[in-house]
Amino acid sequence: MGLDVVWAERWVRRTAEVVAEAKDELTELDRQIGDGDHGENLHRGFQAVVAKLDEPDAAERTEVGDVLKLVATTLMSKVGGASGPLYGTAFLRAAKRSARPEVDTSGVVVLLEAALEGVTSRGRAEPGEKTMVDALTPAVEAATAAAAAGQDPVEVLAAAADAAEAGARATVPMVATKGRASYLGERSAGHEDPGARSTALVLGAARDAALA
Ligand code: ADP
Ligand code: MG
Ligand code: MG
Repeated sequence: MGLDVVWAERWVRRTAEVVAEAKDELTELDRQIGDGDHGENLHRGFQAVVAKLDEPDAAERTEVGDVLKLVATTLMSKVGGASGPLYGTAFLRAAKRSARPEVDTSGVVVLLEAALEGVTSRGRAEPGEKTMVDALTPAVEAATAAAAAGQDPVEVLAAAADAAEAGARATVPMVATKGRASYLGERSAGHEDPGARSTALVLGAARDAALA
């Protein structure tokens, strides 16, 4: 069983919900090591995405990539700062690799790999620099391993979400060397990276949407 455009829309709507619930938490994390706007940035972005999905005269979306492209263009236009272009590029790359009615197990891996490539090509961060890359990289690795073990797309997404969650928690002791948090140097240690946390939320929503 593959994941189709209904899943993709559910993923996006679920993301908007969990981001709304976590808005204050994300903002608080960003207040510790950044400028305190990450929750508001993402909330504004995903509310705009849902508004686009709800437009009555929208063109019919038949491919997973159609939904992800809508996310990409909306985030790029509505979310400023670092995370807008980073998430926008991630979803745009993922969209390009999912121009199909359904994605299967290997399609999920390709989609996640493309998202990571998008973030790294845009932000040039490597693992260990206390960014969203530290959630997305283990997610791709776990998804790859789950797919190689013959798991289905839902299990692959669940593995990715769990690994992103662990990856986000593992940013706590890291010293930031990319983004705004790097201005704090050593003082950035001891706080979870807000972008890594939100990445775990986005992937958790992808899993939840597949289980629904
Ligand atoms: P800003 O820092 O411009 O206010 P946000 O607060 O919305 O933007 O997003 C901050 C998050 O962006 C950080 O927590 C980090 O995860 C991510 N980030 C910043 N710079 C980079 C980068 N070069 N590569 C990957 N992620 C980054
Ligand atoms: Mg910020
Ligand atoms: Mg900002």
